[in-house]
Parts: sequence; structure tokens; C-alpha cells
Amino acid sequence: MNYQSTNTNLPTDGGQNSTPGQALPIVETPNEPNADDASTSPAINTGSPEIGESGEPQNLVAWGLQKFADQPIIMTSSFGMEGCALMDMCSKAIEEHQLPKLQIACIDTGFFFPETKQLRQKLIERYSNLEFLTWETSVSVDQQREMYGDMLWKNNPNMCCNIRKVKPMRDNIVNYRIWITALRRTQTKERSDIPVLAWDWRYELLKFCPLATWTRAQVWDYIQENEVPFNQLHLQNYPSVSCFHCTRAVPGSNPESEVRKGRWAESDKDECGLHFSI
Ligand code: SF4
Repeated sequence: MNYQSTNTNLPTDGGQNSTPGQALPIVETPNEPNADDASTSPAINTGSPEIGESGEPQNLVAWGLQKFADQPIIMTSSFGMEGCALMDMCSKAIEEHQLPKLQIACIDTGFFFPETKQLRQKLIERYSNLEFLTWETSVSVDQQREMYGDMLWKNNPNMCCNIRKVKPMRDNIVNYRIWITALRRTQTKERSDIPVLAWDWRYELLKFCPLATWTRAQVWDYIQENEVPFNQLHLQNYPSVSCFHCTRAVPGSNPESEVRKGRWAESDKDECGLHFSI
């Protein structure tokens, strides 16, 4: 089993003003950077009609993993349905093209459902050509309670997400130049125009979203057709699964439901801060 754990330093500001480490510019960046714009995208000129904004995810994955095989590359996932489908595509492309293992990083907040932990173990056992890492904050749940009270996740969810998700992300992502994620455009309004491939100024790397154009129904079809492990909570009216404090079942929803509500159900919060500033 390939399973590593990386602790990060204790933030005194909730992690909100953390600064990523020095990044080496081994990938060309566009001119006139705007540090607040995470979606500025360089043109993609791949020379293939199958590769581009409308390319099928499987083709994009195979192209990307070959194209960036000699770069420090990481996929992050919280083991949502999209992430599971994308891992399966990556594993198949690695096998077909005899590529190096791909690292999959999960940011463990300490508030995972048991079903999520079981899924993580299933994925580790199934995909031997993926290397599963865990990134986590150095602030234990008890320390967070002592510092900020018993329900930071309710009283200040942005600070809680900054401590438990964003800070560990910033601390670790500096070691990579290519970041693969399973974001889709129909998940939230913030994600509605995400490019398939774009320079991400927040983390200073290329961000690759092969599933950007897919619907939730397409993801669910892929999961079923390829018998990909998925979180069993999706069968219990949980359209999206995050920390148990902030995730609720949505009556009437099913695994194909596009809704993201059920996460931070009592607020307008839609994003945890990993992909967009909060
Ligand atoms: S999703 Fe909720 S519990 Fe998890 S880190 Fe964010 S606020 Fe905290």
C-alpha cells in the first residue's frame, strides 16, 4: 500500500494569509498576470481535433498524462464521484501508455464520514498504479476546539475550511507544476466557465480539468459502466459528500443529481476555498 501522511504548520491566522513557497517556472506563463484571476487560460494548441475544450475526458486524460509525464504532477480529490471516475480514467491511461504512477492527494480534514474512509481504502486496493497521499493540517480537532470553540465549522466555516483544507493545500501544492482536478462546469456558478487547461495564478501551476464539460449524469454513467467504486452515501440522498459537519442528505436527490446543496446547507457558501477565494 502506498499511503503517506504530510503534516503542515500551525496557522495563527486561520490560514487565510498563508503564502505558498517559491515556485520554479518550468512551465511558460502568459504575460500580464492577474493574481486574483485563477481562470486566465492560455490557448490550447494540441494539433489534435480530439484534444481541446470539447475533447472527451478519456482522450484529454491520456493526452495530459503523456504530455506532462516528465513534470511534477498531482491530482487532488476528496473522493467525490467525479474524482473516482477521473482516477479510473487516469489508471487506464497509465496502464495503456505505460506511464509512471500518478500521485493522488486527499486533504483529510479529520471530519470524514466512515463511508468516505472505506471508499478511500477500496480505491487504494483497486488502483496499484495510483499513489495515494494524505495532506492534512497540523491543527488537531481538539486544538481547533480549544483555539476557536466547539463549532468553528458552523460559526466561521470559511476559517475552518482555510485551516483544514486551504492551508494544507498551499503548503503541499508548491511541489508540483501540473494539478489535475475533477471539477465540472455545472457544479456551481463559480465553476461555470472553468477552462479544461489553464494557468492558475493562486498556486502558480497549470490546472487541468478533463471533466469540465461533463454533466453529472455522464459521470454516473461512466461510474456504472466501468464499475468504479463510489461513496455509498450517494445512494442515500447525498449528492455531494464533504465533512460530516457540513454535509446533509437532500431528499429526492440521487447519484445523478446536479445539486451541490447539502453542503453548507444553512449558508450561501458554495466553495471550500481550494479552487476559488472565499
Ligand atoms: S467543510 Fe465544514 S468541517 Fe470541513 S473544513 Fe470546511 S467548514 Fe470545516
